[in-house]
Amino acid sequence: MKLAIKEAWKYQLLTYPNPAVGATVVKNNQVLSVEAHKESGSSHAEVLALKEAFLIEYPHSELKNIIDSKEIHEFLALNHNGFFRNCEIYVTLEPCNHIGKTPACAMLLETIRIQKVYIGTMDPNESASGGYERLKNANINVELNILKEQTDKLLYPFLKYQSGHFIFFKMAMREDKSITGGYITTQDSLNLVHNIRTKIDLMVIGGNTVRTDRPTLDSRFSVLKKSSDILIFSSKNNFDKSIPLFEIPNRKVTISSSLDLVKEKHFVMIEGGYNLFSKITETIDYMMIFVSHKIKYNEFNSIEFLGFKKEYSYYLNDYDEVVFLKKIND
Ligand SMILES: [Zn+2]
Repeated sequence: MKLAIKEAWKYQLLTYPNPAVGATVVKNNQVLSVEAHKESGSSHAEVLALKEAFLIEYPHSELKNIIDSKEIHEFLALNHNGFFRNCEIYVTLEPCNHIGKTPACAMLLETIRIQKVYIGTMDPNESASGGYERLKNANINVELNILKEQTDKLLYPFLKYQSGHFIFFKMAMREDKSITGGYITTQDSLNLVHNIRTKIDLMVIGGNTVRTDRPTLDSRFSVLKKSSDILIFSSKNNFDKSIPLFEIPNRKVTISSSLDLVKEKHFVMIEGGYNLFSKITETIDYMMIFVSHKIKYNEFNSIEFLGFKKEYSYYLNDYDEVVFLKKIND
């Protein structure tokens, strides 16, 4: 389950509007595969983990070339050949039981007669839940609440955007907490930020950043290249309109001293520094901080943003650490 959780965090916020989910398949006490859901519309974590596990036993199977989730389901349902009978799967979230963009994972686990399913958190989303019931009714051994405290943390952003809004503050800083003076993190961090920018409904940025940095705020390092709408949070409207961010096609730029627009959106990213953070702390649910370390894998445990506590962190590469913080008492 720890491996599944770790894998899922790598795609946190990229799976919007779906939750971040990870899965691990084990056979004879050996880990065969660890996978995560990567983006909405693509295969769920369980399906990817089952596929990878099957390919370890049958590396030349035509399954290797099947990408479409529905087709993977169909292939495994027809060709599992009893392979999964002594496999166990660990899933951070209850396997889904409804046929949405992809077929139900609980149905697949039932069809292939998996030996045992370990679940972290039960699905609070009524339309997708029922996977546990289905597996129980099919006489499949299921164990619940495995590392639940950790799998719950993984689910928090999803629960927020389900309930209306998820608003997070993104910041990049060096180990010494400095944030000015050119690029802070490596290309890996930029790639991740650009990929997240293609998922959000709105990006908020402070007026001073626009005036000083003259940013583009596009998604050129992402696969989708979709640039989000922007709210420049500023009481003045004295911007040089030749700044690149105004020239991105199909982008709406709003300049306002009010955050009302934020409340109309489900998934909002605020990018800025300490100044902007202190001005709009009340509005924020969550933080994603990219910390650039001078020393490989140095631990950054001194982050203190009043009212927020660290949920999780991981390293993108030797030097860039991604730290998630959640508002306390939420
Ligand atoms: Zn599923």
